[in-house]
Amino acid sequence: MCGVIGIYGNDDVVYEIYEGLIALQHRGQDSCGIITYNDMFHLKRGMGLVNNVFNEKNIARLKGKIGIGHVRYPTIGVGSLEDAQPFYINYPFGIAMAHNGNVTNYYKLRELLEKKFYRKLTSYSDVEVILNMFGVFLERHIGTKNFFNALVETTKQIFKYVKGSYSVVGIIADYGIFAFRDPYGIKPLAFGKKNNSYAFASESVVFDMLEFDFIRDIHPGEIIFIDKDKKIYSKRLKREKFSYPCIFEYVYFARPDSIIDGIGVYEARLRLGEELGKECLKEDIKPDAVIPVPDTARAAAFGVSKILNVDCKEGLIKNRYIPRTFIMPTQKEREIKVRQKLNPIKSEIENRKVLVVDDSIVRGTTSKEIVSLLRKAKAKEVYLAITCPPLRFPCVYGIDMMTRGEFIAKKYSIEKIKEIIGADKLIYQTVEGLIRAVGDGKRKDFCTACFTGIYPTKIKKKEIEKLEKERIKQKIIL
Ligand code: AMP
Repeated sequence: MCGVIGIYGNDDVVYEIYEGLIALQHRGQDSCGIITYNDMFHLKRGMGLVNNVFNEKNIARLKGKIGIGHVRYPTIGVGSLEDAQPFYINYPFGIAMAHNGNVTNYYKLRELLEKKFYRKLTSYSDVEVILNMFGVFLERHIGTKNFFNALVETTKQIFKYVKGSYSVVGIIADYGIFAFRDPYGIKPLAFGKKNNSYAFASESVVFDMLEFDFIRDIHPGEIIFIDKDKKIYSKRLKREKFSYPCIFEYVYFARPDSIIDGIGVYEARLRLGEELGKECLKEDIKPDAVIPVPDTARAAAFGVSKILNVDCKEGLIKNRYIPRTFIMPTQKEREIKVRQKLNPIKSEIENRKVLVVDDSIVRGTTSKEIVSLLRKAKAKEVYLAITCPPLRFPCVYGIDMMTRGEFIAKKYSIEKIKEIIGADKLIYQTVEGLIRAVGDGKRKDFCTACFTGIYPTKIKKKEIEKLEKERIKQKIIL
């Protein structure tokens, strides 16, 4: 998963892009980059967090009223600097690009580019493939008078060739800035405005930070282009029967203060908690307190507490300065980091039956450590309630869980998982409850592939297995 921003402003945009990337830091901590354009491209990419990579000196170099930025979370690509975005090419135009998503036919397209179009790549990043395909198709329109039409035809070809998920922002030197979203609309992308400045961003929270007004979400299959005179063009090029925004964005990934495709993430999490609360009512439990695992599960814990009519208490405190446990390469390291990251407040736990709410169980490492911490803090009973249903299928669209082997729920029954993590009860959300909660009973079209194995892009089983194999290889390299 990644975060993208594109701004066409009235002055140097690097400062706003930098601030915007800080607001999107939760979407990727692996690497980041900004490219701006005045009469030439200026690029800075680096490994690590936004405020470690950018400083006064390199920011001063990034001149231009037009720019794009990216924070990266590795999907395809092994996580080296070479794979950090944005990328640019110089033929047929100066084109810069960054994206959020995952191209599922990456290897096929790479081969096509190399063998048929003689394009040599510099990385294993999938956006470099989209960018070069874009260049190949745009080349056919050199000399065109109607540039938006050329972009429309080019993007149509992208939609035809590039499979998977991609929300793209890009610059075309001396022409303008553009953004498009894949026809299934799997990854978010929003459009905002302040006076005579325009912005694209993965999450609406960027507009709050920069005091831009949110205009709307970009539709699945739509391209928006802002030309050098700031004239706006937009067209929906492909319309699938439904759109499929990633439901895991609402469960875990996005910031709670964002609104994605018209649904407030915080409100979705509250409703997830209420649905989960109803599942808890079916169990024979009488907890003394509902305890969220900070931070993602906090809103859901409020929802559970409301339905059960049991107080929600802070019983686990998070050390903010510990890096993400999820990406630690070995199981042992992950376990140690969970213990460093979370510590119980003993007075809230001792002698109490606690109902702990977390957003998800992937491998089970976090849950097992949490239960053990609470037992050590002398909890009388520990029940664990999970905001989403069991994760069983690899995400091929960019959430970092690409191999089935990683999922504890793929290997074991819920009863067995309960035993492994050592809880007295384990309560999962249902798929129906998940969809009802996120869609607020009004909308049902989401990508739920990681829970149901139904992939909206109709990817073949063989292709999923290939992606899984590549992922395993990359983890070994990491
Ligand atoms: P695990 O310990 O492997 O079961 O992972 C579950 C924990 O990791 C949960 O507490 C989540 O908050 C978090 N999590 C779930 N999915 C992801 C993801 N794709 N990337 C990073 N963290 C995640």
